Amino acid sequence: MQNQGEPTFRQSVDIMFNRAVKLMGLPPGLEQKIRVCNATYTVRFGVRLRGDIHTFVGYRSVHSEHMEPVKGGIRYAMSVNQDEVEALAALMTYKCALVETPFGGSKGGLCIDPREWNEHELELITRRFAYELAKRDLINPAQNVPAPDMGTGEREMAWIADQYRRMNTTDINAAACVTGKPLNAGGIAGRVEATGRGVQYALREFFRHPEDVAAAKMEGKLDGKRVIVQGLGNVGYHAAAFLSQEDGALITGVIERDGAIVNPKGIDVDALRDHIAEHGGVASFTGGAYVKDGAKVLEEECDILIPAALEGVINLTNAGNIKAPLIIEAANGPITSGADEILRKRGTVIIPDMYANAGGVTVSYFEWVKNLSHIRFGRLQRRQEEARHQLLVDEIERIAAAGGDNFGLSAHFKRDYLRGAGELELVRSGLDDTMRAAYNSMREVWHEREDVHDLRVAAYLVSIDRVAKSYTSKGL
Ligand code: GLU
Repeated sequence: MQNQGEPTFRQSVDIMFNRAVKLMGLPPGLEQKIRVCNATYTVRFGVRLRGDIHTFVGYRSVHSEHMEPVKGGIRYAMSVNQDEVEALAALMTYKCALVETPFGGSKGGLCIDPREWNEHELELITRRFAYELAKRDLINPAQNVPAPDMGTGEREMAWIADQYRRMNTTDINAAACVTGKPLNAGGIAGRVEATGRGVQYALREFFRHPEDVAAAKMEGKLDGKRVIVQGLGNVGYHAAAFLSQEDGALITGVIERDGAIVNPKGIDVDALRDHIAEHGGVASFTGGAYVKDGAKVLEEECDILIPAALEGVINLTNAGNIKAPLIIEAANGPITSGADEILRKRGTVIIPDMYANAGGVTVSYFEWVKNLSHIRFGRLQRRQEEARHQLLVDEIERIAAAGGDNFGLSAHFKRDYLRGAGELELVRSGLDDTMRAAYNSMREVWHEREDVHDLRVAAYLVSIDRVAKSYTSKGL
C-alpha cells in the first residue's frame, strides 16, 4: 500500500535504516554494503491450468549474505512486487541479527490470489515456482531457506520440501531446505503459532519493565489492557488468542477485510475466527458491534494496537489520529516512515517489527537445526545427558547466586532442559529466552544512549552493529 507523498516500502525501510546508521560512524562503504539488496531474481513461468497456459511472476530477493543460509518467507498475494520483496528481505537481515539466528536476509513472493485456485492447481503452481528457485540455489538447506508468509502455510512448505527432495535425491539434509513444514514432514512443534506467541512474549517482557510501561503512559500489567488487532490471520489470531486467554487482555477490536468488530467487554477470538472461516468475513458476527469502515477502528481508544496484516496501514493519512499509546508491529512494515515520525513526536511507543514478529524465524531456526541434526528435540538429552545437565544447571545457579551472569537463561528454560521436556515446551522456552534477550539488548541502547529515543532506532543499532561486525570479521 502506498499513499500519495509517501516513499515506497523499500524506501521507507531505508529511511529508518539511515536514521539509525547516522548515529554509528560506520565507514560509508560498509554502510552502503549493508543497506542494499545483493540481488533479486525475477521469474516468469507458465503452468497449464484449466486448458490454458497461465503465466505467473515470482521473486526471490537476497538482501545480505553476511551469514548463510539466507532466510525469509514466501508470500502469495496479488500485491507482491519487487520493491516489497526487497523491503521484506532487508527486514529479514535486521530481524535475524537482532534475535541472533545465524542467517542472512531473504524474501520471496508470487503474484497470485491463492483464493482463485483450487488445492491441486496451487500445488502445481507451487512446485513449478519451487523448481525455478531450487535450480538456482534459491532454495537450498545451506544457502537459502524459505518459510511461510502471508498467503502460504504448512501445505505449501510441504510441497516445496518435496519438490526440492525430488531434485536432490542424494542430499541427506534436504528436509532443511525450507521451514514451517507440517510436523509429519519434518516440521517442529509450535511453528504455526510461533509469530503470535513471540508477540505475546514480547509484550510480557515489555510489561516486566515499569519504566517502559510508563514511557507508554500506562501502568500495571497486561491483565485488563484493551487491545485492537488488525488482521486475524495466523499472526493476529494467535497473538489475540494468547493475550486474551492466557494474560487477561481484552480484545476490544478486530479489523478484517470486510470491516471490524468492536466490543469493549472483549471479543471471543476463537468464535470470531470460526465465524470468518464459515462466512468469509466478520460482518454478521454477533459477539460485538460491526463497523463497516474497518480502518477507522485503528483510530479507536485502546491501550495496545497490534497491526498484524499488511505493510503501510498506519500512514500519513491516519497516523495523527491514532490514540493507542503502544503499538506492537506484528506485521512487517505496518507503519510508514512518515507515520513513524508523527507517532514518535506524539510519544507513542512502538515495538518494532524486526523484533516483534521475530518469533517465526526463531522457531524456524529450531526447525532447521532439528532437520540438520536428524534427531527429535529432547531425545538425546533425556537419559544419557541428564546428569551432565544437572551439573550445568547447578553451576549456572551457583554463579547467579553469587551475583554473576546467568547467561540469559530463564528459570523456565533450565527447568525444561533438565526435565528433558517435550519438543513444544523446549520450543516455547527457547522462544521465550530469545524474545527476552533481544528485548533487553534493544532496551539497553534505548535507555543508555542519550541520542536514542525510540525502540526502532535501538533495534537497528543492535542489528546493524552485528551485521557490520560479521562483514568486518570476514575481511570485507
Ligand atoms: N515470514 C516470516 C517472517 O517474516 C518467517 C520467516 C522465516 O521463518 O524464515 O519473519
